Amino acid sequence: ESENAGIAAKSYAENNSAETIFTKIIRKEIPAKIIYEDDVCLAFNDVNPQAPVHFLLIPKTRIDCLSSSKETDAQLLGHLMYTAGQLGNSLCPKGFRLVINNGQEGCQSVYHLHLHILGGMQCGWPPV
Ligand code: IMP
Repeated sequence: ESENAGIAAKSYAENNSAETIFTKIIRKEIPAKIIYEDDVCLAFNDVNPQAPVHFLLIPKTRIDCLSSSKETDAQLLGHLMYTAGQLGNSLCPKGFRLVINNGQEGCQSVYHLHLHILGGMQCGWPPV
């Protein structure tokens, strides 16, 4: 329970800050193993990998979370999804999994929208 409270507190803090650690990664102010970059998105290895391949794909323009995205973000969201498919296929040709954690019960900890791409192993189902 205390661990869950910690996650909730962290989420609250992140959600109310002007920017997150991912903004610093975009600005190259803190190091990250960047695996792909274009005008609108950036992919880099997760610092705490949950699979042999685990990277994050983020928009350079901050959206807090998927559920706060606007209809005008649809093209950007489509680009993120397409790019995740291309990168996933190139790094994990045998298959991979996309995860978007959304909000407190979705276990989101960094409030800058990100797609987790996980692979390099046999995934299980159900996921939780
Ligand atoms: P969330 O829990 O879905 O919000 O995922 C946030 C992810 O960001 C976690 O998997 C963290 O390990 C990862 N993360 C946090 N800080 C950094 C960092 O500085 N570099 C790379 N990944 C990070």
